[in-house]
Amino acid sequence: MPRIISIVSGKGGVGKTICSLNLALTLHQFGEKVVVVDSDITASNLGFHLGYYSFPTSFQNVLMGEAEIEEVIHRHPTGLHFIPSSISLSDINVRPKNMRQILASLPYDMVIVDSPPGLDTVAREVINASDELLVITTPETPAVANAVKVIRLAEETRKKLVGIIVNRFTGTETELKPEEIEMICEVPVLGVIPEDPAIRDSVFEKTPVVALDPYCDASIAFKKIAAQLIGKVYQPPRFLGLRRLLGLL
Ligand code: ADP
Ligand code: MG
Repeated sequence: MPRIISIVSGKGGVGKTICSLNLALTLHQFGEKVVVVDSDITASNLGFHLGYYSFPTSFQNVLMGEAEIEEVIHRHPTGLHFIPSSISLSDINVRPKNMRQILASLPYDMVIVDSPPGLDTVAREVINASDELLVITTPETPAVANAVKVIRLAEETRKKLVGIIVNRFTGTETELKPEEIEMICEVPVLGVIPEDPAIRDSVFEKTPVVALDPYCDASIAFKKIAAQLIGKVYQPPRFLGLRRLLGLL
């Protein structure tokens, strides 16, 4: 049975899809047998980030019992295995059933699930289908306040909360600090991903940033988090700043 790890948040637009893709690709690069699944069925956009817009069959077809899960696994040139959701308006009313059973049947060691935000029906189904949860938030009060609600629900369902990922961190005075987020949420921060223009570029290039710019600040942060998920420690190359300046990386 695979480890089903879902990337969840209280608020939309905080970086779930970016984080799901980059953690999954990093785990693949570390040699793990991993697939990333777009479970945000009403506002799916994982395919967009990879340059794929239409698929003959998608995760919705599996949820509706019209396709087998193996039929909807795609492979990106980076090596990433992914299961997209349809972006068609006609597919947004799917009622997710048996999500756990479907995800648990995937022939992988790890399944990373990109989730819908908040606590609606699909989001709750995803939480129920998971073994472990990573809660992602930006360092602002509205996002953190909503993250707390997801954390409370996760605690009720007795799912393993791996930790919080703080995304788009700049370190300015007006932001909450990781220690403050830990205090508010009462869950440890697993990693901090900086605000990084390389992420915008990666969205434009339709390639996860860890493939496009493997040693930018965000990529290093993703590698550190991914390593922790498999009980390892990622050591960035030595003299990274100097090597970047010399154009060696
Ligand atoms: P969600 O899936 O939670 O709705 P996304 O992963 O789609 O959020 O991220 C929304 C947008 O935020 C991305 O398209 C990207 O432009 C931007 N973004 C996310 N994380 C970062 C970051 N660390 N640095 C810069 N831009 C980011
Ligand atoms: Mg998303």
